[in-house]
Amino acid sequence: SAKAAGRNGYAWFSEEMASRAKQRLVLEQGLLQARHDHSLTLQYQPQIRLADGAMTGVEALARWTHPEIGVVEPDVFIPVAEETGLIEVLGAQLLEEACRQGAIWRASGLDLHLSVNVSVRQLTGSGFIDILDAALERSGFPAGRLELEITETAMLSLDKTRGTLESIRERGVTLSIDDFGTGFSCLSLLQHLPIERLKIDKSFIQGLPDNGSSLALTLAIVSIAHSLGLDIVAEGIETPMQQEQLGSLGCAHGQGFLFAPALPADAIPGFAASRPLR
Ligand code: C2E
Ligand code: MG
Ligand code: MG
Ligand code: MG
Repeated sequence: SAKAAGRNGYAWFSEEMASRAKQRLVLEQGLLQARHDHSLTLQYQPQIRLADGAMTGVEALARWTHPEIGVVEPDVFIPVAEETGLIEVLGAQLLEEACRQGAIWRASGLDLHLSVNVSVRQLTGSGFIDILDAALERSGFPAGRLELEITETAMLSLDKTRGTLESIRERGVTLSIDDFGTGFSCLSLLQHLPIERLKIDKSFIQGLPDNGSSLALTLAIVSIAHSLGLDIVAEGIETPMQQEQLGSLGCAHGQGFLFAPALPADAIPGFAASRPLR
């Protein structure tokens, strides 16, 4: 293994390893600067009510253009931000930016539900509730229109996050489980945590309508959600068939490239206007 080879003093810093370590360092340094240089921004993916196609809200998604290497995907830089702990300060900045943007839309008469992704590292870090309160207060965005998306794995750190999740709920902020079905879900957690929405992972949606096990799992998730009184959002809807099938299964909301990818904030009012009226 690389470890054994390392102990023998060779192969550990193979060229590939060296360049990976270097890449990682470049990302870390870039993220450190992102706190100040505005290279980290948000785009907003519309969320659609499947029954009538109206736009009901947006999910804020982080976008990063590194000054030298260009666009870096969230699946690459979010894990680095999490491992280095930088997600705490960057996530706080993004949460406030999203709330400010939400308040700007409201002021122009566009009342949208706003979803923001939150890492477990933010929830277990110090002072998340203070950060949330500050974002709401400074922006004036109403807590009741804000949703925080947390991945299933975060739910497993329950002992550390339960108090925080309850404080979030007390403020009227909605909590949802993101990528539902891909983690090691403990179904009993759904009953004991203050969760209101499940987001079905796009890997299931992408198997629809033909893949039998995707359909079976989607059905199971929808039925669990319904029996617990949870709202459902399907992510990754790419075809009209998928929209139709999910709608008829009783899935209320969805997002996906069929409707729109994540868009710059200033494109959202125009998109909303192009959808059926609510
Ligand atoms: P996610 O929260 O599950 O977001 C959904 C991802 O699916 C987004 O990828 C979105 O662009 C993509 N997507 C939406 N519709 C479709 C579709 O129809 N087909 C396909 N193939 N993909 C679709 P993105 O923006 O690359 O983000 C990836 C992940 O990075 C997010 O997954 C989320 O876990 C994380 N992330 C993004 N922004 C943030 C953030 O501000 N904070 C934290 N903690 N994580 C974030
Ligand atoms: Mg999400
Ligand atoms: Mg997701
Ligand atoms: Mg994801």
